[in-house]
Amino acid sequence: MDATLLNAMINHINVEIYSSYLYLAMAADATDKGYPGFSHWFMVQSQEELSHAMKIYTYLVERGEKVTFGAIEAPPTTWDSLTAIFEETLEHEKSISARIRDLFKTARDIFDPATEIFLNWFIMEQVEEETNVVDILQKLQLAQDAHGGLLQLDRELSQRAHLYTLNRPAE
Ligand code: FE
Repeated sequence: MDATLLNAMINHINVEIYSSYLYLAMAADATDKGYPGFSHWFMVQSQEELSHAMKIYTYLVERGEKVTFGAIEAPPTTWDSLTAIFEETLEHEKSISARIRDLFKTARDIFDPATEIFLNWFIMEQVEEETNVVDILQKLQLAQDAHGGLLQLDRELSQRAHLYTLNRPAE
């Protein structure tokens, strides 16, 4: 694989692992704020991001590349509110979408069609990620105005399908 593209792909593994770390920090903050359902949602989100990193790692290994790793930046530890958490999540996902578009462009410019096709999945995944977060932000807005709205939304988010095996929040 072209060295520029390989380095960009390896860097994106770091970005996805950072995303996982960021969402785990958000899960911890949601727990601290007393919202187990929101925390669960971010735990699942954190695991998804790790699976994205694994997907790229596996692809590069399949291409016969040696993958090397750099340090992962520390995420923030607290946010002002649940809305602030989701606003940052949306900004973060938009920045990931932009990075994936850049990767796609690099693959196209270098003419690496396999990597272009591989990246298609990520492009569509980002559309879904952004839609999900916008949806929750709207629900948060509505919940703010309704009596018991936040608890109701917390209960709804606790239902997100999951793979992790740690203690789930009580239902
Ligand atoms: Fe991701």
